[in-house]
Amino acid sequence: MATIPLSAVDRFRDILGTDRVLEQHTERLLYGKDGSIAEGDCGLVLLCETTDEVSACMRAAHELGLPVVPRGSGTGLAGGAIPLDGSVVLSVARMRRVISVDPETPCAWVEPGVLNLDVTTGVRHLGLHYAPDPSSQAACSIGGNVATNAGGPHCLASGVTSQHILGMEIVLPDGEVLTVGGPAPDPPGYDLRGFIVGGEGTLGVVTKVCVRLMRDAPTVTTLLVDFPSVTSAGAAVRDVIAEGVIPAAMEMMDRTMVRAVEQFVHAGLPVDSAALLLVEVDGTPAQVADQAAAVERICRDSGAASVRTARDEAERALFWKARKNAFGAVARIAPNYYLHDCVVPRTRLVEVLENIAAIGERHGLIIMNVFHAGDGNLHPLIAFDRRDPVQVEKVFAAGKDIIEACVAVGGTLSGEHGIGLEKRDYMPLQFAPLDLDAQCRAREAFDPDGRLNPRKVLPAGAKCGELILDAGSLPEGTWL
Ligand SMILES: Cc1cc2nc3c(=O)[nH]c(=O)nc-3n(C[C@H](O)[C@H](O)[C@H](O)COP(=O)(O)OP(=O)(O)OC[C@H]3O[C@@H](n4cnc5c(N)ncnc54)[C@H](O)[C@@H]3O)c2cc1C
Repeated sequence: MATIPLSAVDRFRDILGTDRVLEQHTERLLYGKDGSIAEGDCGLVLLCETTDEVSACMRAAHELGLPVVPRGSGTGLAGGAIPLDGSVVLSVARMRRVISVDPETPCAWVEPGVLNLDVTTGVRHLGLHYAPDPSSQAACSIGGNVATNAGGPHCLASGVTSQHILGMEIVLPDGEVLTVGGPAPDPPGYDLRGFIVGGEGTLGVVTKVCVRLMRDAPTVTTLLVDFPSVTSAGAAVRDVIAEGVIPAAMEMMDRTMVRAVEQFVHAGLPVDSAALLLVEVDGTPAQVADQAAAVERICRDSGAASVRTARDEAERALFWKARKNAFGAVARIAPNYYLHDCVVPRTRLVEVLENIAAIGERHGLIIMNVFHAGDGNLHPLIAFDRRDPVQVEKVFAAGKDIIEACVAVGGTLSGEHGIGLEKRDYMPLQFAPLDLDAQCRAREAFDPDGRLNPRKVLPAGAKCGELILDAGSLPEGTWL
């Protein structure tokens, strides 16, 4: 484990005090991990509480030439917050103030460490909510959501994080503080928001965020639809959207996942179902009635065995509890899981799901599916035991097959978790050398020394179009 020179530690202590500079072995070990299966090498941890502190720490790191990894709640699944080579981890988890709420626009300025769910909880009395709702929303931070361009079940109709960020304050690698965008519509000048959202901590530390708030729909109906096969459920998803009905959310779980979740949450899910769709429609009572009827008709045409409507708010909450606790339920099947995150065109959903099942069989692995079906955002989840090296090898080999299968049908490497460390070496599968070069140059405009979250997102050699894709040299996914 790399250590930071004592003189540098003292410099950070002068800024934050002794208590908020963590250098003990166990503390560094903890901050060397995130929600992924990777483990890193953390040199020092800085717990910042204000923009001024972030700025002073970034200036000090700049002068000392130290690499810095920004960190929110550490729930990321692509290894984005994993420090490499003894990097300094700068945590904004303690920056948890809701600075202001403007119910008219409506929007709110919040600090980056505010938890996603706390934004909605804080404005619920105004009939407002923050739409992107990752399943991790009780734990993940708004800053982390911005950095990964997070999605969630209710992003199908309302769009992912990038569509809900009006502006932000960001501390650059040399400590300068920049504000981009804001609540005013169509801010003048270049619109840098789209570049910074999804920047995965490689461009600066986000220290304030202006989030768009949305008015609550007057009526919501949630349907639980039971299918005899994954194929028929996939066909229903395709046909609902093709008919022009855009539900607020449309999530799918396959049989293995339904059984694990039901044992964990006891939501009354039909455990014999081969595939379950959770579909939510919202709007005026008339719109909801029309859309719910259309969804039911299309699902029955695709072979649905039963369609159940949540009786009341309590049952609706129970259905969602089941969906949002799905990953936790996997512990009943195996001690570890590796969750993939690819997007495929909805029209290819059925064939890709069949392909993933075949990949599982070929490698002798349990692959479960729970995903944002309406978006085509797949989350094949491989349950395994990392103490068994043979299984680990198979998990990575299967992961590579899954990624290649998704990209082959015109899909993308990530729908919401980001590239981080996990997908970095797969970038040439999706981008031509010139594309990667352009991304390198844009990153360098913010971070010329490459000190911010180094070795993440872009593969080595990506600069100047040097990287030529050689399919044979693609990694077996051994990014641990
Ligand atoms: C059970 C479970 C369910 C999940 N479900 C979803 C889901 O439905 N949708 C989804 O999108 N994701 C999901 N995730 C993944 C994860 O919660 C999201 O990626 C989330 O946005 C990460 O937020 P975080 O605060 O934990 O960020 P971290 O893990 O701390 O960091 C993630 C990345 O953001 C960067 N970063 C963090 N904060 C800042 C900042 N202030 N400034 C600059 N860079 C920063 C880090 O450097 C890193 O690259 C899930 C994770 C788990 C464990």
